[in-house]
Amino acid sequence: MTKQSVTRADFDKVMVPNYNPQQMVPVRGRGSRVWDQEGKEYIDFAGGIAVTALGHAHPALVKTLKEQADKIWHLSNIFTNEPALRLAQKLCEATFADKVFFCNSGTEANEAAFKLARKYSYDHVGPEKHEIISFEKSFHGRSLFTVSVGGQKKYREGFEPVPAGITHLPYNDINALKNAISARTCAVVLELVQGEGGVINADPAFVKAARELCDEHNALLIFDEVQTGIGRTGTFFAYQQYDVIPDIITSAKALGGGFPIGAMLTTDQCAVSLNFGSHGSTYGGNPLACAVAEVVIDEINQPEVLAAINAKHQKFVKRLTEINEKYHIFQDTRGLGLLIGVELVEQWQGKAALFMAAAREQGLMMLIAGPNVLRFAPSLIIDDQDITQGLDKLDAAIAQVLAQ
Ligand SMILES: *Cc1c(COP(=O)(O)O)cnc(C)c1O
Repeated sequence: MTKQSVTRADFDKVMVPNYNPQQMVPVRGRGSRVWDQEGKEYIDFAGGIAVTALGHAHPALVKTLKEQADKIWHLSNIFTNEPALRLAQKLCEATFADKVFFCNSGTEANEAAFKLARKYSYDHVGPEKHEIISFEKSFHGRSLFTVSVGGQKKYREGFEPVPAGITHLPYNDINALKNAISARTCAVVLELVQGEGGVINADPAFVKAARELCDEHNALLIFDEVQTGIGRTGTFFAYQQYDVIPDIITSAKALGGGFPIGAMLTTDQCAVSLNFGSHGSTYGGNPLACAVAEVVIDEINQPEVLAAINAKHQKFVKRLTEINEKYHIFQDTRGLGLLIGVELVEQWQGKAALFMAAAREQGLMMLIAGPNVLRFAPSLIIDDQDITQGLDKLDAAIAQVLAQ
């Protein structure tokens, strides 16, 4: 059977216009290199939006996926399976958690977390304790509930009415949280580095205060670690460098290294409230996804791999500083580990997408986080040569934009 040839132009004909992909079609990848339909090579600093944590076609992941494909693909949750049980054990061993719920995306992991928070308070107090506190610029997914908890109004507009009982406060503002939290609060949810919102780090004092205020008001503390988890920030989960233990964390993105999977991790005490029949997912805990994720964890959750992520962070920041000394276009460098953002100066605000397009022309795949921030979320095992060459391309892309 011959396959019909397709190009980027077909996207506009047959795809809903909710995305506007770059003007090339990648067809193959290895490590941190990708090739498009024309055979042009790119260095990948986008990592599929912080997903391909072991790069493309990592031999251990490919081998595991092929082996599992030959055994069993799917069962549903009428049956359990070995990869899911092994993965859950490993996630519990590596974190504060005692129990795991599997699903297929970050949105679904957060949906489960928010439903659990409401159910937990319903079980222990009553239906009036249902309010969720979240933060401006946060991102928690695109389902109606998660988009409502998210702190970006533009993603909710046109989809109202949205679920009630959700408050958005300024991020890193301890006083605002102190004033808003009450006996009616069932959960406080935050990202330890706001990813989509512009790569904004949580203040350690704010995270500590959130824990204390949640304890005081009998509310659950949820960390959305969909983007920050699985080594991205230089520890296995980001909370492990904040000295604060949450009640729930959510994971997805890098967890599957590119194979769709999500997970919600929680304590024994909270888990009781997701009792039999209360929640579910047909694909959640799929053997293919769980087999791959187990290998992702084995590869990343090692002291030397995590330490190397912090060294790569330093390498990025050093070179970004040098680039900025040349062009003076960044006013701030933020992030942790290999989630790095640079905010453009006033004069270039709103133009982040221009730099992303120029980078692509120079052979670099990268990300933006809103209109003002360039974002880098490469493979966690990207080698030094790829970092150097990728940043050479960024340098050339900036020169190109400034020359126009
Ligand atoms: C990407 C992301 C999500 C949504 O994950 P999907 O897999 O796209 O549903 C949720 N929260 C955070 C912090 C994210 O970065």
